[in-house]
Amino acid sequence: MAPVAYRVTSRTRETEDTVTIGIVPVTESIPTPAAGQFCMLYAPRVGEVPISVSGVEASQSRLLHTIRAVGAVTKALCALDVGDVVGVRGPYGTAWGVEAAAGGDLLLVAGGIGLAPLRPVVHEVLRRRRRFRRVTLLVGARSPDEMVFRGEIASWQASARMEVRTTVDYATAAWKGDVGVVTTLIERLTIDPEVTVAMVCGPEVMMRFAAAGVMAQGVAPQRVLASLERTMQCGIRRCGHCQLGGLFICSEGPVLPWSRVAPLLARREL
Ligand SMILES: Cc1cc2nc3c(=O)[nH]c(=O)nc-3n(C[C@H](O)[C@H](O)[C@H](O)COP(=O)(O)OP(=O)(O)OC[C@H]3O[C@@H](n4cnc5c(N)ncnc54)[C@H](O)[C@@H]3O)c2cc1C
Repeated sequence: MAPVAYRVTSRTRETEDTVTIGIVPVTESIPTPAAGQFCMLYAPRVGEVPISVSGVEASQSRLLHTIRAVGAVTKALCALDVGDVVGVRGPYGTAWGVEAAAGGDLLLVAGGIGLAPLRPVVHEVLRRRRRFRRVTLLVGARSPDEMVFRGEIASWQASARMEVRTTVDYATAAWKGDVGVVTTLIERLTIDPEVTVAMVCGPEVMMRFAAAGVMAQGVAPQRVLASLERTMQCGIRRCGHCQLGGLFICSEGPVLPWSRVAPLLARREL
């Protein structure tokens, strides 16, 4: 349970309320996280919260975390500056399992900051592009200003190594992507259901519609993966805060097949 000290080496503002910090170990490091896993980040004197890993530079043991300031701890983490120290525990939770999708088509659907846990998947796929057939990334945000990793999305689009489509709920005059919720992009895709693995991450309501849209095209629920968020304090199956029915999101999740998620989300009180 004791956090390891990491030092902030970079700080990038993504949107008005979202910041990506790069951190390196002061001395001891945690094991390298897999795409989809999260760390417990401790903001000194404020508290500790789960935050997904949004990038890994294994050679330098450098981790990236993209944090949206919503409350006391996330605000403190977003306010950290280069040189500051943060506590890190982990990595925890299940991974997307990118390798299991190799040989087939991959569909990534991200809503808002939901692109953060999917970003390491994109990096992994681009590193081994030939191992995958068609790779599609759909990104939705409320407005162009609220889209995270805008520069990187543009470079993915320009490289044409995968199909990237972006959409916003509210466009500006300069916006060149689509307008409408991200799930409308799914309806316009032609999906090969037998070979497609879909990974969806974003607000729960968006994931419900995205999963439904993908399954409406014949993709089996066990081939649709979602990353769930539930408040947690320990991250290691002790406190029970993240429990969803019989499931501990911290250890059996956050990444779960829709076949396991659907029956739980169908119950209102959970
Ligand atoms: C596995 C996992 C991965 C996560 N990854 C990221 C990430 O990459 N980037 C990021 O910015 N956030 C992520 N979160 C959410 C983040 O942990 C919460 O925003 C944080 O715990 C809020 O703490 P706080 O003290 O800042 O705010 P609080 O004061 O605890 O809460 C402020 C507001 O946010 C709401 N809230 C708190 N926790 C959650 C939650 N887990 N889900 C939805 N709403 C919540 C509260 O209801 C309240 O309205 C993740 C959560 C989980 C479980």
